[in-house]
Amino acid sequence: MTGTLTIAGLGPGSEALVTPEVSAALASATDILGYAPYVARVVPRAGLALHPSDNREELQRATDALRLASEGRHVVVVSSGDPGVFAMASAVFEALEAAPQWRDLSIRVLPGVTAMFAAAARIGAPLGHDFCAINLSDNLKPWAVIERRLRLAAEADFAIAIYNPRSASRPDGFARAIEILREADCGERLVIFARAVSTPDEKIETAFLRDARPEMADMRTLVIVGNSATRRIGRWIYAPRHAR
Ligand code: SAH
Repeated sequence: MTGTLTIAGLGPGSEALVTPEVSAALASATDILGYAPYVARVVPRAGLALHPSDNREELQRATDALRLASEGRHVVVVSSGDPGVFAMASAVFEALEAAPQWRDLSIRVLPGVTAMFAAAARIGAPLGHDFCAINLSDNLKPWAVIERRLRLAAEADFAIAIYNPRSASRPDGFARAIEILREADCGERLVIFARAVSTPDEKIETAFLRDARPEMADMRTLVIVGNSATRRIGRWIYAPRHAR
């Protein structure tokens, strides 16, 4: 029996933002693996085994998924948003690199709506010009790398989407990030705090960076720092398509 491994993005939360391609993969799966809150978004049914696991167990989860697929199962690994953005797709390929015996498995990556695009759409078009995305978690990279990337992104005048801004185990990083951006002369930039976009808990706040407070973000918030030309028109915020 030939197994398959699909790495799928569930989007930011709303059912309406799950792509038909991902729904079809979930409907024909035998096994779903993922971080427990994401697996909980999959409707249980007979014949479907759910394998929730903890945060920070990505590599083990990826290896388990490859093994199940090699045994003939139809495995879907779920991420929130897009699986290629700070999520499981890279973990699966890391596991595959370490396990040549599984190189010939049938593997697909199915895109999803990533948090920064869902957030940007709510407020207008803050990512309409050049932008970058930075993961503020220092679980897998030194904090010095994060600081350097923030400084250079500010210097290059990118709009900056910040994922994983703040958590109970990392209460101070985001405060430091705000400081770094202020030092880089970004005080007059507009900042968007988009929390739990497309869920019933959705909340969007905006501020100038000089007035931004660390408590405005938590683990369910995607922060977008505008570029120097980003402007507000009534309730909308957008980045013009041209640069000075
Ligand atoms: N693969 C995911 C990102 C995983 S990292 C994606 O493509 O969206 C987790 C971070 O994503 C969170 O800390 C938060 O910054 C952001 N995030 C995920 N879902 C979100 C949502 N519905 N609203 C706002 N931010 C979200």
